[in-house]
Parts: sequence; structure tokens; C-alpha cells
Amino acid sequence: MSDNSTSRRSFIKMSAIAAGAVASTKTLPRAFATQPHGSAVVIGAGAFGGWSALQLLRQGMKVTLVDTWGPGNARSTSGGESRIIRVTYGPKRIYTEMAVRALELWGRYEEEFNVKLFNRVGMLWFVGENDSYEQAALPLLRESGVSFEQLSTADCDKRWPQINFDDVSWGLYEPNAGYLNARKACEAVFQAFLSEGGEYRQAAVVPGSVKSERMDGVTLSSGETLQADKYVFACGPWLGKVFPFMDTLINNTRQEVFFFGTEEGDARFNDSQLPVWIDNGDHIFYGFPNANGRGFKIANDARGPAMDPTTHERRISEAELEAAREYLRLRFPDLADAPLVDSRVCQYESAPRDRFIIDRHPEAENVWIAGGGSGHGFKHGPVVGEIVRDAVLDRKKPPTEMSLAEAFKNSAS
Ligand SMILES: Cc1cc2nc3c(=O)[nH]c(=O)nc-3n(C[C@H](O)[C@H](O)[C@H](O)COP(=O)(O)OP(=O)(O)OC[C@H]3O[C@@H](n4cnc5c(N)ncnc54)[C@H](O)[C@@H]3O)c2cc1C
Repeated sequence: MSDNSTSRRSFIKMSAIAAGAVASTKTLPRAFATQPHGSAVVIGAGAFGGWSALQLLRQGMKVTLVDTWGPGNARSTSGGESRIIRVTYGPKRIYTEMAVRALELWGRYEEEFNVKLFNRVGMLWFVGENDSYEQAALPLLRESGVSFEQLSTADCDKRWPQINFDDVSWGLYEPNAGYLNARKACEAVFQAFLSEGGEYRQAAVVPGSVKSERMDGVTLSSGETLQADKYVFACGPWLGKVFPFMDTLINNTRQEVFFFGTEEGDARFNDSQLPVWIDNGDHIFYGFPNANGRGFKIANDARGPAMDPTTHERRISEAELEAAREYLRLRFPDLADAPLVDSRVCQYESAPRDRFIIDRHPEAENVWIAGGGSGHGFKHGPVVGEIVRDAVLDRKKPPTEMSLAEAFKNSAS
């Protein structure tokens, strides 16, 4: 990989020069449009690490990305078919603002990469009797300028007769939200990273020792040592293993995801006719319309039992399958007898209060940690990349809310 990427870098440089005299910095590959800022090793090529690596590369850093099993691999949290992108975050201003920026960035990068990643099919909240979460979101949505609609259940019935809105109080609809092609997006970011001169190694990384408040290298499973000015550990559910001091902060729980087959020729559950949705009432399920023939996807958002992301056998359970069917009977009655056509077992890597953790290592000033996606991190990947970039380059500290100190405080309370 590294040999190829060196020649690829020379090729890009020559192309840039050839295109050159007339090209603005906008059209130049970013790695050559800015001044170099030293070197970085990014560990983890999921949503957080992949975007961080690309952003650092685009600031002129020499970046090596390392992953044990590769971007969007089957064990990783980013490795699913699809992930919801929405702006409604209850009273949480910081995540609302990040999601607004993420909506913009996904649209922009999708165009730049020329790969379909963002499906703006809309996102519908089934609001329960207690609507404090949605009510708290409304002022933030208004302030953010994103489009949204407050719908009565009669409106909802009319628009989506495939859904049974019994016991729903009202609907909150975000027409510009939708879903992201998750695994495909990890691959697209990775390809952009490589084509712009980033280097990649497939290996398991062990952090190096810390001397005088600096990490002096990381060791790969091949025995090789990589040294750089800065290190970013974006190891998702493995963060507690990589840094045992974080073990109590990252809680990995088993989450089952089901894909049901629609009837032959029935397009009512396709993404042309149905948005993604979250049921925020008594049954916290969420789901995706049938896309690319993969099936109608639903999952229970409640945290499952603890699991090890490396060794766990990813087989669905009868109990969770039955719970999913029961939910279909209630909300999507025409799919009550639909056959299961696919399934996945993934893990949420939850941090205290579901807040991301983006902070400097407490003992090594050249090491940064980014993780704790907590079941909602994927959409924020491009924004996390910007936060990590600014932190690593000492331009801007990550939000205090995402500090290790806050995480420890919240885990104790
Ligand atoms: C079922 C499910 C549904 C979800 N739904 C949504 C949703 O609708 N919307 C949303 O925004 N988010 C959602 N999420 C959350 C989101 O997917 C995650 O928060 C996000 O993908 C986390 O990305 P990450 O890069 O932190 O972790 P990961 O994707 O797990 O990446 C970590 C990477 O690090 C590598 N690694 C780990 N340790 C080492 C090591 N020692 N050496 C080398 N490499 C290492 C791994 O191989 C892996 O590739 C969902 C998650 C799940 C499980």
C-alpha cells in the first residue's frame, strides 16, 4: 500500500502542476494547497478515524492510517448497511449544530467523491405521549434554519397509510434528513484518503510508551514500529482495550438489526415512498425503508447485553426477532408476516450520557482520542474529522462536553 501511495502522490503532484498555473487552490488537491504540519498516525478507519485521517491529510500532514480489519469491517461499529442522519436532538444544542453541519458536509462530499452516500428520503419521528424531547428540539431546529414539519396524526395517516399511528401523539418530519450508506461511505473516505497520498497499513496497533509527556511510537502486529509527530486513536468499541484507563467509559452492548422482505411488487415500503423513522414513544424502535432490495430494516434502540466486539458470535436471538415482529404487527401491520431476509448483530460503543469523547490523552500531549459514538456517531463523522483536525493542529480545543474529565464525571454520577 505504502509504495503505491507514494507513486500515487507523485502522480497527483505532477497532475496538479500540469493543470497548474491556472488552477486555484480550490481545484488543487488539498494536500498540496496548504503548508505541511508534520506527520500523524491515525488508528481506526471507521467513521471517526477515516474522516479524521482525510482531514489531517488535507492540511498537508503526512498521514498513515492503520486498521486491524479494514475500513467498515464486519466487526466495526461503522460496518453496517445504513445509518440515519437527522438534526433533531432534543435539547442538545451541540449535537444539533453538529448535525446541521453534517447534513451540509455529507451533501458536499457525496458530490466530490461522486458516489451515492446520502439518501435524502426524509426522517419521521413518531412522537409519544411525553413529547418533551421533541418540544425541546423545536427552538433549536428553528434557530438552525433546517426544514421541519409538525404533523398531526391525521396528516401522518394521509401521507403514510402503510404506517399505523395508534398511540402516536404527533409527527416531527425532517424532509432533508434521511440515511447514509454506511459501509460504502467508509470505503469512499478511504479511497479519497489513498488517492490523495495517504498511506495505509492493515495491522493491530499497540500504543507505545509515554516519555516526557509524549508517545514515542506505536507497535504494529507485524512487529513494525510507526513513529509520527501526532497520534489519533479512533478505535470505536476497542478504546477500552487499547487504553485500559478508559475501560469503564466505553460500554459495548449487543444490538440486533433485522431486514424483512416485502411482498412481490409491493413498493409501499421502498425509500421512494417511506422515510426513515424513529419511534420515540413506548417502543423505541427505529427503521429504514427498503433500499436496493436489501429489505425493510428495523432495530430496537434499547441497549442490549454487554459484548466483546472481537470474539462475539454475531447470531441474532429468537427473543429479539420476536420483539421485532411484535413491533411490526403494531406499527407496520402489512409486514407482520414478512420473512426475515437478512440480519446483523452490531455493538453500540456507548460513553456516559451518550456523549462523544474527543480529547487529548491525559499523559501524552501528542496523542488524541476520538470515540464514544454511542449509537449516534456515524452521521457526525465528517464533523468529528474537523474537530479532530483542529485539535491535532492546536487550532481549537474540542468541546468541553466531549472531554475525558466530563466522561469520568458523568460515569460516576
Ligand atoms: C446497530 C447500530 C445502529 C446505529 N445507527 C446509527 C444511526 O442511525 N445514525 C448514526 O449517526 N449512528 C448510528 N450508529 C452509531 C455509529 O455507527 C457509530 O457511532 C460510529 O460508526 C462509530 O465509528 P468509530 O469510527 O468510532 O468506530 P468503528 O467504526 O468501530 O471503527 C473503529 C475501527 O478501529 C479499528 N481498531 C480498533 N482497535 C484497533 C487497533 N488496536 N489497531 C488497529 N485498528 C483498530 C477497528 O477495526 C475499526 O475499524 C449505530 C451503531 C450501531 C451498532
